Amino acid sequence: MQNITILGATGSIGVSTLDVIARHPDRYRVHALTAHSKVDELAGQCARFLPEVAVVGSAQAASALSALLKKAGVATEVLWGEEALCQVASASGCDTVMAAIVGAAGLAPSLAAARAGKKVLLANKEALVMSGQLFMTAVAESGATLLPIDSEHNAIFQCLPGDFSRQPERHGISRILLTASGGPFLNRAVETLDTVTPEEAVAHPNWVMGRKISVDSATMMNKGLEVIEAAWLFGASAGQIEVLIHPQSVIHSMVSYIDGSVLAQLGNPDMRTPIAHALAYPERIASGVAPLDLTAMAQLRFERPDLRRFPCLKLAYDALQAGGSAPALLNAANEIAVEAFLNRQIGFRMIDQLIDRVMNTIPHEPVADIGALLEQDERARALARECLQ
Ligand code: NDP
Ligand code: MG
Repeated sequence: MQNITILGATGSIGVSTLDVIARHPDRYRVHALTAHSKVDELAGQCARFLPEVAVVGSAQAASALSALLKKAGVATEVLWGEEALCQVASASGCDTVMAAIVGAAGLAPSLAAARAGKKVLLANKEALVMSGQLFMTAVAESGATLLPIDSEHNAIFQCLPGDFSRQPERHGISRILLTASGGPFLNRAVETLDTVTPEEAVAHPNWVMGRKISVDSATMMNKGLEVIEAAWLFGASAGQIEVLIHPQSVIHSMVSYIDGSVLAQLGNPDMRTPIAHALAYPERIASGVAPLDLTAMAQLRFERPDLRRFPCLKLAYDALQAGGSAPALLNAANEIAVEAFLNRQIGFRMIDQLIDRVMNTIPHEPVADIGALLEQDERARALARECLQ
């Protein structure tokens, strides 16, 4: 029996994870569930999965949740705040942590799980983008198992040899081909991008996801973050990772080998596949995803991304190459810009301009520890907010 903590249980990934877990009650037990403010949803999940602990974002949310659980006769202990998130991510009663909080808020608990040597199922790409070296060192030192949930990285992982050692050349790998749908604005006239609304930006053609990652997909910053994520997960350089637009989202990514072989992982665009893969790894379990009907596919298209349409992708490659705190600055500025766009404070094209401004103003530095990293993160957020004024 695997005991699981789900960080971000009420989100898109959290809900899909519970869907897979519910199909296998003989294999998985829920140790803890966390949310930020969606107390009603979390109470419903607690009544169904009976975790030992539930964590929310504030004292107020905690008392609301406690009242709901008491009324329902559910004995789950209720805690709140970042320390409690770290506690349930590293608790001795849990073996596996699904890290599915969105954004930098997920860094501390994801890192706590890595340091505690857990099996870490990583959806929270922002945590790895921010803290790459520190995170990978924590994994290596504690002996944690790190499995990617992001569909592309999970696909790449599935296309790598079993003894893969984070040294692509040693395994005859020439390139990682990271596929991207291109999002909702792939074919929209570039001049009209400034007038797109948050509703248009979050309407992804293939995937149903949280609002932040949906905007990231529309700017292709999501792919940029994924390039950095792939660099850390697979020990690859920027030059070894190529982004390919593939609007059908059927091939979730590929690995190209020096003998001319290209291995791909295919499937319907449904996150329950990578979630089930990582939960059961190295075994396979049913996920509830419909089988892929290859005869129903008219064609699979591929094209190179246009960096004038998607400047965020270039900003991310630049940050990866710069190293140090540059990816953390990029991520922080992006989080502020996306929030401002979703709140209708800025237009869509201002997102990349704001990030560019922050990256060009704050010099990136080597990252010695988490304190230095958070300082850079805070500086970037402060400057981005100042630019918004
Ligand atoms: P959602 O916005 O749907 O869910 C986010 C979850 O995090 C919710 O449970 C939310 O709680 C919680 N949360 C939000 N803010 C905080 C905070 N400050 N402190 C603690 N918890 C918080 O996001 P997604 O599920 O779409 O994405 C989660 C992560 O997975 C992201 O990093 C994303 O990039 C990554 N990912 C997602 C994919 C997808 O298909 N959705 C695909 C690949 C990666 P509440 O509900 O109470 O607000
Ligand atoms: Mg992805």
